[in-house]
Amino acid sequence: MIRSIFFLFLTATFLFACKENQNKDKKPKGGSQKMVVTSDSVTQKKTLPLKSLRSFKGLADTTFIRLAEFSDEFAYDLRYATKNNFLKEKVYDCAECYTRVKTAKALLAANTDFRDKGVRIKFFDCYRPNSVQYKMWEIVPNPQYVANPKKGSIHNKGGAVDITLETLDGEALDMGTDFDYFGKRAYHDMTNLPQHILDNRKLLKQTMEKHGFWSIRTEWWHYNLGAASNDEVADFKWPCD
Ligand SMILES: [Zn+2]
Repeated sequence: MIRSIFFLFLTATFLFACKENQNKDKKPKGGSQKMVVTSDSVTQKKTLPLKSLRSFKGLADTTFIRLAEFSDEFAYDLRYATKNNFLKEKVYDCAECYTRVKTAKALLAANTDFRDKGVRIKFFDCYRPNSVQYKMWEIVPNPQYVANPKKGSIHNKGGAVDITLETLDGEALDMGTDFDYFGKRAYHDMTNLPQHILDNRKLLKQTMEKHGFWSIRTEWWHYNLGAASNDEVADFKWPCD
């Protein structure tokens, strides 16, 4: 009897340890627990070898690529693949960050600059298929918060990203509001904020502008690649397995 209890105890310990290890495998380097949940599919595939930047050579600037295949130096918290967003609905089947090649090149260069300063880009949203824009419009049909899908947004063109900065240990920099906070506190021209918040936003804005992105006045997290404005609205959908 004692032997079988001991055996059961050993089996349970072994199973528990395996589960722990599985969870550990999913955890991105330096990431927080929150990131494990929200960016699961992005981080899981990170075990594949990274593609060299030279592989951009055969690709047109407008080709869509999966950013995580070219760099493991970004962080992800893709909110629209969860319910943790202003829509309170999950509108992506899985969390992925795709952009056009030219956007990816600019993001990689910007992230190199950020990393020199001890921080890195964390994505909230990247390319957004036009059909998802329709889904969002159905939930919140208000142009103040969601771009009209008929015209499409630069997210639909693969040239816009919603980002923040975090330290290389995964600690978010204070930007004064959460992502998708629709109010004056999120505006770039809101200067009545503690100095460290203004400094963090300035670092983000100046570096992104240096690499060809422009911002919109009301959202500190949103950046458009200047060279993307004439691209077509796309409805390419990434695979989820
Ligand atoms: Zn945006």
